[in-house]
Amino acid sequence: MKIPKNCPICDKEWLNTNGNLSCVNNDHVISFTFIQNTGELWGITLRFDNDKRAHFFLKRKEITISCFTTDLLTSIYIPFFEPDLSNYEALIAKIKTYMLFL
Ligand SMILES: [Zn+2]
Repeated sequence: MKIPKNCPICDKEWLNTNGNLSCVNNDHVISFTFIQNTGELWGITLRFDNDKRAHFFLKRKEITISCFTTDLLTSIYIPFFEPDLSNYEALIAKIKTYMLFL
C-alpha cells in the first residue's frame, strides 16, 4: 500500500514519532505503524465516533474495532478489506456497515 505524503483527510503534514506517522485532529485520528527493522507497514488505525478505533492489520489481513465505553473495552472483527483513504467518510461508512451485521 502506498503511504500518502500528507494526511489523506486534512492534507496536513504527518506527525512522525519514531518512524510512525499520525495525524490527530478534532474530527479524525489516523496513524500508520511500521515494523521497526524492516520499515514495512504493519497497520493503520483510525478513530471515529469519539470512542471507537478501527485497526487494519495489513499483513495479517484482519480488521478489529475497539470500542471504549465507560468501563468496558471490547474488540470485534469485521471482514478484511484494503482501506481506501482517498475518501475518509466513505471508509468510515463502510466500517459502520460491516459493524451492523455483527
Ligand atoms: Zn489529518
